[in-house]
Amino acid sequence: MDSPWTLPTVLLCYGQLLPWLMTVGDQSLDEFYNETEAKLFLQFYEQTAQVVLNQFMEAAWNYVTNITKKNREDMLHKELERSQVMVYFGSRARLFKIAQFQDPAVKRMLSKLLDIGKAALPKDELWEYNKLLAYMETAYNMAQVCLDEGPCLPLEPDLQEIMANSRDQKELLWAWQGWRDAVGRQLRPIFERYVILSNKAARLNGYKDMGALWRSKYEDETLEQDLERLFQELKPLYLNLHAYVRRALHRHYGPISSITSTPLPGNMWAQSWVNILDLVLPFPKKPPEDITKIMKGQRWKPGKMFEEAEKFFTSLGMLATPPDFWKKSMLERPPDGREVECQTSAWDFYNGKDFRVKKCTEVNIKDLLSIFHQMGHIQYFLQYKNLSILFREGANPAFGEAVGSMVTLSASSYQHLLNRGLLSQQHQDSEEEVNFLMGIALDKIAFIPFGYMIDRFRWKIFDGTIQKDIYNQEWWNFRLKYQGLCPPIPRSEDDFDPGAKFHISASMPYIGYFISLVLQFQFHEALCKAAGHMGPLHQCSIYNSKMAGKILGDVLKVGSSKPWPQVLKELTGKSKMSSEALLSYFKPLLNWLVTENVQQGEILGWPDFSCSFPERRKPKAAFLSMELEPKAARSGQWVLLILCIIMFLMILGLASRLFIMEKQSANKDSSDNTETGNTSFLCVPMEPHQAARGQWLLLGLCLILMLCSIILTIRIFTWQN
Ligand SMILES: [Zn+2]
Repeated sequence: MDSPWTLPTVLLCYGQLLPWLMTVGDQSLDEFYNETEAKLFLQFYEQTAQVVLNQFMEAAWNYVTNITKKNREDMLHKELERSQVMVYFGSRARLFKIAQFQDPAVKRMLSKLLDIGKAALPKDELWEYNKLLAYMETAYNMAQVCLDEGPCLPLEPDLQEIMANSRDQKELLWAWQGWRDAVGRQLRPIFERYVILSNKAARLNGYKDMGALWRSKYEDETLEQDLERLFQELKPLYLNLHAYVRRALHRHYGPISSITSTPLPGNMWAQSWVNILDLVLPFPKKPPEDITKIMKGQRWKPGKMFEEAEKFFTSLGMLATPPDFWKKSMLERPPDGREVECQTSAWDFYNGKDFRVKKCTEVNIKDLLSIFHQMGHIQYFLQYKNLSILFREGANPAFGEAVGSMVTLSASSYQHLLNRGLLSQQHQDSEEEVNFLMGIALDKIAFIPFGYMIDRFRWKIFDGTIQKDIYNQEWWNFRLKYQGLCPPIPRSEDDFDPGAKFHISASMPYIGYFISLVLQFQFHEALCKAAGHMGPLHQCSIYNSKMAGKILGDVLKVGSSKPWPQVLKELTGKSKMSSEALLSYFKPLLNWLVTENVQQGEILGWPDFSCSFPERRKPKAAFLSMELEPKAARSGQWVLLILCIIMFLMILGLASRLFIMEKQSANKDSSDNTETGNTSFLCVPMEPHQAARGQWLLLGLCLILMLCSIILTIRIFTWQN
């Protein structure tokens, strides 16, 4: 290992070397660790962390927007420096008697410093862990699936497009299986080591495993029970959608392909079904307008899509992105051919002025809404940029996700799209409304069990309930249990299908997406009320509402400086997560689905269902131009062989008989038939020249038969099925 394991120079440049350096572990200096000193200590941290984090983010950005070996090394070194700073401050923060302090902000900041995450690992293992994480993420981002004769396709945009648009089961399966072969399989052996090191890091931070450390970010003792409650409340919505879509797909593809057998067309992980809206539209005679087509007709470009999202936030009176955002972001896949990571993400560079988005934007409505989501992250960064670095994060990890998604609820509302010139039809009747809600549900409701199960699965890996020899089997058990999905072809433990999902290969917690699904509707309902919206929730857009913007901005400004239930209460009036707003948003659709499913006599869910595979067509074997069962063909070969041997023996017998007869005949000829000059062949008297021809003919026949026997025998013993 070649790494500059020295205290980063920035520590010396930006902070004064404070007495804490010398006083670690000196019990007589307990008095020294008082609240006043703590404030100075935190100031010192602030100055140092700003520089170290900024440098790390720059190095990480350089790597993901230009994947080279050198950039990877640079990033890994900056990552080590960051870890070193975390260890330095984390170990000293422990010395303060936090419980005796008065200022809640000081207490909160110090307690945040205590959790140093993976930096707690011994330096060799930390280096190994960082390399392993970089490898997993890069392997995912660089993976391609190659056509037999032709180019290799990356996930974005090619494989995603096949999954979204193809309706051909064969092609879908090719992309589905190819992606898992390319990514999952190569990550499997590494993942086991990743789990070991993750858990070690977690234990060094005082948690029983990595799952517990991830959950601790929610500062919620009852998190798991609360999530289970929410999941159960939302389940009827999913089950009704599942039953309806299952039937619609059955209608389209026939009994072989039902929803219980991925690949569902539409999405590589079946986490969103929005791309199969055309197959399941409740009122197919009233199809929604094709917004992507309208965008393309209006010559939208990626830049314009970002400006559109920016406009939404400024219409609320919120902050505009600084000029650097537009200069430094990666809004499209670079045309110069360098390798980049296309996974969409928003970046805070911790200097209060540099914020960026990385996205390989394509002009379509899905990407437009995804940009609204990313700009929600950027807005959060902008709002809390003046806080301590320790508070520059969402109130909990799900808040950041919820803000952007909440805005997309407004941005995708019928009225808003109409106002922005992305729809032309002036009115929506009740049937069109059900169609519209179906489109949203295929994205949001289909995601409920997926968002919930990903981390429940990983928590069980981290706590050892799921052992490494059954990773893939358990993955599919989870997918069946929660989503009612089966793999389209048999899977084995050589496969590692969870690794084919970005957040698993990139070691990013996922439960925040489930929580944000619930929160975004809670936020939406509260802000719609503030904006004075009357009528059904799905018709609301908060665009232009300064009041909604003010409430939202005030909440974003506090970052994670307060416990999230308090922040939630300021925004919604309630401190508990609730599924009520979501259920109310989808009420018209749920009513329609329930009626439809009852009418069709649908059974909700998949009771007693297990993933079984249609018996594979047994391969047929060819035998003398006939297609036979392999067993029958083998028997035929043996019969042939025995026949050959019998023939061979018969020929041998006949030949020797002939030889004896000829000899006897010759003896007899010399004594009896000298006068006549006649001879015999096979006891038939004939002219000598006729007998000689007959003998040669017989010998030729024998030779041909012997040759046949030999060829058949060789073929039989070299037979391969
Ligand atoms: Zn996000």
